[in-house]
Amino acid sequence: MSARKDELAAGLAEVRRRVGAACLAAGRDVNEITLIAVTKTFPASDIRLLAELGVTDIAENRDQEAAPKVAESSDLPLTWHFVGRLQTNKVRSVVAYADVVHSVDRSRLITALSAAAVRADRTLRCLIQVSLDVPPGEPSGGPADDVASERGWRGGALFPEVPGLAEAVAGAEGLELGGVMAVAPLGADPAPGFARLAEMAAAVRAAHPGATIISAGMSGDLEQAIASGATHVRVGTALLGGRQAIVR
Ligand SMILES: *Cc1c(COP(=O)(O)O)cnc(C)c1O
Repeated sequence: MSARKDELAAGLAEVRRRVGAACLAAGRDVNEITLIAVTKTFPASDIRLLAELGVTDIAENRDQEAAPKVAESSDLPLTWHFVGRLQTNKVRSVVAYADVVHSVDRSRLITALSAAAVRADRTLRCLIQVSLDVPPGEPSGGPADDVASERGWRGGALFPEVPGLAEAVAGAEGLELGGVMAVAPLGADPAPGFARLAEMAAAVRAAHPGATIISAGMSGDLEQAIASGATHVRVGTALLGGRQAIVR
């Protein structure tokens, strides 16, 4: 094996061990958890090695970077997840390769995704991204598309908006409602946020029984996410190593 493949194999073994221990602690079956490797900033060669090691699900967060890496990996049997803030002008490109979009957080995006999916003759699974940054009930929109990335707003709908967005996805041609997704608030205990996410997920599932996905948990907090019912964990650093900061 190449040195890099050894490194990735070790990272994967450790992440699988952590997922297994978290499931044991939570009384859950490991088969309930899908491990998604977040490969942003790493080359397509790493995606190939991960696939050889048995990883089936890959996530990227920027279309510019993802599109060429997907093209280089087209012979691999992978499920592709888009987990980044999605601007409507990138929707057509993303719909061409993504199987699941985790970052659906506004109705204009749903309209655009639906139109692109119909046009591409694809069915796209969508998760409603829930913001855990703003306490529920607090009035705040979140900045408009163009200033969002500048301010580091990580996206996500406010809690009261989630049921309506879920309804809109469920009723949109070309889209399928998969469930919910969230990123834990920066620098805070993730457990309360994940607990609120689980309540929201249950409410969405009550209205839409097929929407069973809870995408939560990253390298630093996958144990807490699994304890709160996560079905999909998105892991970058713990699998692939540290990322260089990207200057955009
Ligand atoms: C980068 C990223 C991850 C993975 O983060 P790590 O801390 O490196 O595991 C998960 N989810 C989203 C949305 C990301 O952008």
